[in-house]
Amino acid sequence: MSIKRLYDEKAGTSISLEFFPPKTESGRTNLLERIGRMSALEPTFITVTWGAGGTTADKTLELAAVIAKAHPHIAVCMHLTCTNMEPHIIDAALERCKENGIRNILALRGDPPLELNHGDAYGYFRHAIDLVRYIKQRHGDYFCIGVAGYPEGHYNVMDEDEQDPVRDLEYLKMKIDAGAQFVITQLFYDVEKFLDFEKMFRDQVSQEVAVFPGLMPINSFMLFNRAAKLSHAEIPKHILDRFPEEIQLDDDLVKQVGVQVLIEIIDQIYERTEGRIRCFHLYTLNLEKAIAQIVSQSPILGHLIEDKSEGDINLEQEGAN
Ligand code: FAD
Repeated sequence: MSIKRLYDEKAGTSISLEFFPPKTESGRTNLLERIGRMSALEPTFITVTWGAGGTTADKTLELAAVIAKAHPHIAVCMHLTCTNMEPHIIDAALERCKENGIRNILALRGDPPLELNHGDAYGYFRHAIDLVRYIKQRHGDYFCIGVAGYPEGHYNVMDEDEQDPVRDLEYLKMKIDAGAQFVITQLFYDVEKFLDFEKMFRDQVSQEVAVFPGLMPINSFMLFNRAAKLSHAEIPKHILDRFPEEIQLDDDLVKQVGVQVLIEIIDQIYERTEGRIRCFHLYTLNLEKAIAQIVSQSPILGHLIEDKSEGDINLEQEGAN
């Protein structure tokens, strides 16, 4: 099922969820149970990450295929990176997607391995747009292709340039013009930066293409800081101030505050875009509790959990992956 079609047809607010393929068999079993419970939240789509260079190819493809089979009403999207990837690996991955009814691809560049020098790093494909064009050339309109957007600008490990969302917009436009049909953003906590980005996108790129804001629940203060740093996302002072030193080591308290922070971010984005942004992409880190709490307590997402029988969603359980 195409994300564009499903999203266009679905009225009202919703969520989408990102998972990564677990390393172990028990992690896989746990995750599939969790996804089973979280499917009661009726996510519009689920994405599965891909290790740059194809490092998780088999596990990613297998997980995406199992989710697609078990949840035919949810669109499944496989991430696919192209740096340091030979075309035959891309061809094989796309064929396996077709065999398993996966019609959505998030076309990404990926980051090259650190040990490679600048010249070696890219291989056949240089930028994500090369992958968008390649998929279009080979498969026409079979796949609904999405691309990454960066509200604060992309930080390029290759040249360590300053982040610049205005410069990136030109390249994002090229990806849309090449046939990409939706954008998922890098995680962010600064609503103003996202709103500026969305406005620029609407003014200069497209009024229609769906933009899904990427949001990561706050499960521990250390992970929150680390994820923001790795993603080059700034945490605004007014949010940091809500995690004073006395609570930083108390994961339960941090989670509670984090749930409220996420609910407010979702609320503000929905209100200030006048409902134009109505599907929120949650980086789950394969965990369900914070997601279920955000959805159940959010005034604009709460309808997804109302009317569900007790036990459909497990607010308490949280095991290892
Ligand atoms: P591009 O669109 O190619 O952009 C990369 C840089 O090149 C940018 O600075 C851009 O401004 C510049 N640029 C783009 N096009 C051109 C051009 N034509 N000429 C000159 N400069 C250009 N990584 C993984 O390994 N696996 C994943 O599953 C994964 N999932 C992700 C999901 C999301 C939603 C996001 C936001 C990122 C994800 N990433 C993932 C990380 C991503 O691979 C990196 O951020 C990577 O560095 C950039 O990928 P991109 O697709 O944005 O690249």
